[in-house]
Amino acid sequence: MDTGIIKKTNIKAVIEALMQVGEVIAPVRKDDYLVFSPLSSADAACLDYANSKLSPKGCFFPQTEVLFTYEKEGHKTFEPPREAKPGFIVGIRPCDSRALALLDPIFDERQYHDVYYLEKRKSKTVIGLACNEPQSTCFCTSTGGNPSDTAGMDMLWQNLGDRYLVRPVTSRGRELMAQLPHIEEAGQDDLARAQEQGEKALSKLPPVFSADEVADKLSSSFDDSLWQKIYEKCLGCATCAFVCPTCHCFDIQDENRSGQGRRVRLWDSCQFPLFTLHTSGHNPRPCGKERVRQRVMHKFNYFKVNNGQVACVGCGRCIRECPVNMDIRQIVSAYSVK
Ligand code: SF4
Ligand code: SF4
Repeated sequence: MDTGIIKKTNIKAVIEALMQVGEVIAPVRKDDYLVFSPLSSADAACLDYANSKLSPKGCFFPQTEVLFTYEKEGHKTFEPPREAKPGFIVGIRPCDSRALALLDPIFDERQYHDVYYLEKRKSKTVIGLACNEPQSTCFCTSTGGNPSDTAGMDMLWQNLGDRYLVRPVTSRGRELMAQLPHIEEAGQDDLARAQEQGEKALSKLPPVFSADEVADKLSSSFDDSLWQKIYEKCLGCATCAFVCPTCHCFDIQDENRSGQGRRVRLWDSCQFPLFTLHTSGHNPRPCGKERVRQRVMHKFNYFKVNNGQVACVGCGRCIRECPVNMDIRQIVSAYSVK
């Protein structure tokens, strides 16, 4: 079977079946927003949603993570038990899944294999959920994606009202499809409805800029006077980096007490002044102008030059969550017409 359907009346049973096999991470309601979290019951999964407040990258690259503990006496180190539990991440949006595909080579490059990230990443089968109703802040089509993109996924589900259309993407996804209960072969009507919905969602997201053109324009914009204007309202709070599915900078700190301690990895951000502060006191990015420019240049120019694609998937979280309404689309668009 190449394409299947799962009726919504059976979705709870399907999630329960996945929970029998391993840990299931899915969007769950927390206060008035959604986060990706391991399910304790299939009822907690919320697949009828726009997108989560924090990206699911934290499931693989947690905001804080103990790398190991140590005792100074005898120079002993102890690795914590690995937390990667085999299972599934269900309901991830195409932009966030593409962000994982973008992060994979960063944490698994030729010289460095980040086992903390890679073990978690490899342990989960990724089941994505296509976007039928993009938000006003979404712009995935400007950064190379689309509302039904399958990058980074093993399987894609698409909401067709009373059912989900199910398409495997990888061999892992095909194996899972063969084992899923309550799956039926998709009919011509289902396929036609899925295509119509996909086209409708795509039509709601006309590109606002061309990522390729912007990357070229930014190459000659490092000293542009516009940066001076852009940065002025930025508070340097780094909310934009902390909600971003592609930001991956971290700091490593040792926490010591009475001869014992632990080495911890924490998210960091180029929006913080300490990020580039040298021990000499010199800071090559001394003010907000340099720091905002770094964020935009890294995402839309440096990363493209080094990795062949921009480091933004157009999820819109930084636009939604910025306390002073900075809109990265406007910044990038301003340079695209220069
Ligand atoms: S969230 Fe907004 S105010 Fe905070 S650092 Fe980012 S752009 Fe600046
Ligand atoms: S820069 Fe903003 S829109 Fe782009 S991936 Fe990060 S949070 Fe999403």
